[in-house]
Amino acid sequence: MTLNPQKTSGPQRASGRPVIVAGAGPVGMTAAARLAAHGVPVVLVEAEPVPRTDWRASTFHAATMELLEGIGVTERMHAEGLVVPLYQFRDRRDGLIAQFDFGLLAAETRYPYRLQLNQQHLVRMVHERLREDDRVELLFGSRVTGVANTEDGVSVTVETPGGTRTLDGTHMIGADGPRSTVRRSLGIDFAGYTYPERFLIVSTTVELQDLIPGLAHVNYIADPEQWLFVLRTPESWRVVLPVSPDEPIEEATAPGRLQETLQGMVAYPDGYPIVDYQAYNVHQRVAERFRRGNVLLAGDAAHINSPIGGVGLNSGIHDVMDAAERIARIRAGDGDPEAELAAYDAVRRHVAVEYVQADTQRNTERLRETEDAQRRATHDEMRAIAADPERARAYMRRVSLLESVRRFGIGRPPEQSVEEARA
Ligand SMILES: Cc1cc2nc3c(=O)[nH]c(=O)nc-3n(C[C@H](O)[C@H](O)[C@H](O)COP(=O)(O)OP(=O)(O)OC[C@H]3O[C@@H](n4cnc5c(N)ncnc54)[C@H](O)[C@@H]3O)c2cc1C
Repeated sequence: MTLNPQKTSGPQRASGRPVIVAGAGPVGMTAAARLAAHGVPVVLVEAEPVPRTDWRASTFHAATMELLEGIGVTERMHAEGLVVPLYQFRDRRDGLIAQFDFGLLAAETRYPYRLQLNQQHLVRMVHERLREDDRVELLFGSRVTGVANTEDGVSVTVETPGGTRTLDGTHMIGADGPRSTVRRSLGIDFAGYTYPERFLIVSTTVELQDLIPGLAHVNYIADPEQWLFVLRTPESWRVVLPVSPDEPIEEATAPGRLQETLQGMVAYPDGYPIVDYQAYNVHQRVAERFRRGNVLLAGDAAHINSPIGGVGLNSGIHDVMDAAERIARIRAGDGDPEAELAAYDAVRRHVAVEYVQADTQRNTERLRETEDAQRRATHDEMRAIAADPERARAYMRRVSLLESVRRFGIGRPPEQSVEEARA
């Protein structure tokens, strides 16, 4: 059954001016659901006519699963997702270097594992809920084209299939992805850099554990020439690898070349069935600020990073969970508006720089390191961490994003969270 994504009978029935959310990707959908759970009316504006279904991020970490309980989707996610308690750091030439067990976190989280589930499934699950929610107006096929702060809220221009509309809201969350119109409308810089190589994702249904003995369901495999990130999702195995800047993308993604690439990883004489592939530019960028007036940036609109570690989408979900608590408090008259929104900016930007950017850069450099001495040093370090339960536990707390969430909280009162970000 195809669901009609449009539903326009929403917040008129809920009281008060809405919060406008731009973008119905996983981050915007989560924002709308969490605000609605607080009783806040929402208008969710999405440029595409239906929710996107392409395969992109596929990892949900412990801290994110805990937060997603707040929108009631974790049971369904488990029903469709794959629980992955172990991951490996390997070297393409030297084999297994170290194995890490999320089970070390069992005493402090209900989710001592990664849940592998392609992001479009979270989007679908949340969409199905929002369609039934009277507090939410869904505007698909509608594009935000302009944003302005007003004296007591925001004014947002939207091109809808029926013509131009001007929406009046108390706040706005810009979750409209890396090319964010909201960010650009507010003149916020998005500084950083782009990796010279493109990242190629190739998915196959061949059971790679039968071909590579001892392979885990998530594997980071270092190599000075062609590193690999190999992971299992419920639908398939995904292989992520770099494409040289010198190789045109049409050549790198030609059927024969994709086959050659997978055969180079491990031979499969029958020929790999390839069920999906994508090549894309990977960036490390953070918006210079996450807030202007009553508008907050979240998810890829605020920060983008290498997929190595699977934390970009997760931290985007944390952004909007934080934003929703603050906006709900402000609207209920329980929070100082200026202090709450300033805390969002300070804390979420701090986490994006000090955790998300720092960790994904380090993870990526570990894989692509070309200096032999440095490669060996990394091997020694990973082995030492894995061999020491206390170090391994601390490492896994950071990898699973529990550390940043426990340290800064989500929607924690401004005086506590800003103090921590300054510390
Ligand atoms: C090819 C590819 C592969 C990826 N693989 C991985 C991976 O393996 N691991 C990982 O961690 N991350 C990966 N990522 C990144 C991950 O997909 C993002 O971090 C995640 O999608 C961010 O969610 P978001 O909701 O912030 O933004 P998006 O998913 O980009 O959603 C933004 C939404 O806003 C809509 N929109 C844009 N402009 C407007 C407008 N003006 N008005 C209204 N709507 C608008 C868009 O149509 C879109 O639906 C990948 C990204 C790509 C492109």
